Amino acid sequence: MAVIRDVMAAFELYQPTSVADAQKLLAQHGADAWVLAGGLDSFDWLKDRIRKPKVVVDLSGVEELRGVRTAADGIEIGAMTTLTEVVNHPIVKEKYGLLAQSAEVVASPQIRNQGTLGGNVSQDTRCWYYRAGWPCYRAGGNICYADTPDGRNREHAILHADRCVAVNPSDTAPALIALDAKFVLRTPKGERVMDAEDYFIGPDLDITRLHVLQPGDLLTAIRIPSMWAGAQFYFEKVRDRNVWDFPLMNVASAMVTSGDRIERVRIAVNGAAARPLRLKAVEDAVRGQAQNSATGEMAGKLAVQGAIPLQFNAYKIPLMRNLVKRAVVGRGAGMGAQEATWAS
Ligand SMILES: Cc1cc2nc3c(=O)[nH]c(=O)nc-3n(C[C@H](O)[C@H](O)[C@H](O)COP(=O)(O)OP(=O)(O)OC[C@H]3O[C@@H](n4cnc5c(N)ncnc54)[C@H](O)[C@@H]3O)c2cc1C
Ligand code: SF4
Repeated sequence: MAVIRDVMAAFELYQPTSVADAQKLLAQHGADAWVLAGGLDSFDWLKDRIRKPKVVVDLSGVEELRGVRTAADGIEIGAMTTLTEVVNHPIVKEKYGLLAQSAEVVASPQIRNQGTLGGNVSQDTRCWYYRAGWPCYRAGGNICYADTPDGRNREHAILHADRCVAVNPSDTAPALIALDAKFVLRTPKGERVMDAEDYFIGPDLDITRLHVLQPGDLLTAIRIPSMWAGAQFYFEKVRDRNVWDFPLMNVASAMVTSGDRIERVRIAVNGAAARPLRLKAVEDAVRGQAQNSATGEMAGKLAVQGAIPLQFNAYKIPLMRNLVKRAVVGRGAGMGAQEATWAS
């Protein structure tokens, strides 16, 4: 009988039922431990034999990490809340529809039923060289296979590349940045609450990670303040296929207008860089302006300043320009941005 030797590397599985126990295990095993949420990104790495942790800490039994709760200011969503639960939650739908829209277009229903919000914002890049185990910069080597004359880089970055040109694939991340969400971390030094945009990092800060989490850290919850509840929202995702596909690029905006003037606004884009980008310069430029196509054009042009295309992704520059324009004006003339998105 044939003997199959190439099996997935063995690991010790721990299934804590409290955050405190999960933290103890992570502290005890440090860099040898892997945090398991829904498993959709995790199991790719483990089954492809690219990552071989000695210990896996499965968070699925930690009830306190699940669910959407009203908080003193806004809502708090446990990191282990599934994307389907986020999409269907009445308060999320009613007041923070931007997040519901972004979560609703993630992958397929099955993936949304299993994938968690914490996992979605903490997932790794999809660069195929890296995912296939090639020894590139991000994997500790000294070359970027995507950024070579023959490199397959259609999905890669046009902004803020630094040796690595991979992008962050999360659909919910830009929506959370536009909603000014706060990420709650439990670290060995205590609780840390940070702005959504600071949770994500580029290769200039650390080329091996897309987020700030260090061994021993847990993302426990995401808080959304009431400041943007019920604002005008716009979310658009562009992908190769309309089902089951990662974004080539997406955009999210939250806006409050007075008459036709833009009073308050936050805009973020993902798929353009290794981290979702909050477009602060664009926000500053459109604040106080009329919400019309001239303002949208100006916003789009400003957003792509400094973009450098690779061999096969020049299309991302007009794509980003147009997405940002639409995030400012909405798709249909005379239509509110949120209405325009839902009407499409
Ligand atoms: C075929 C396919 C298509 C997909 N399409 C899309 C798409 O279109 N858009 C999109 O946005 N996503 C997409 N995804 C990603 C998917 O939506 C998952 O949300 C995501 O991969 C991870 O979520 P998860 O809960 O399964 O986390 P896991 O895979 O278990 O974890 C992901 C990473 O985050 C870490 N982690 C997770 N939770 C925590 C926590 N609480 N604290 C600390 N670390 C944590 C894990 O250690 C791991 O490194 C797709 C995935 C697949 C497999
Ligand atoms: S883009 Fe980044 S992850 Fe992809 S091959 Fe280059 S260094 Fe590696």
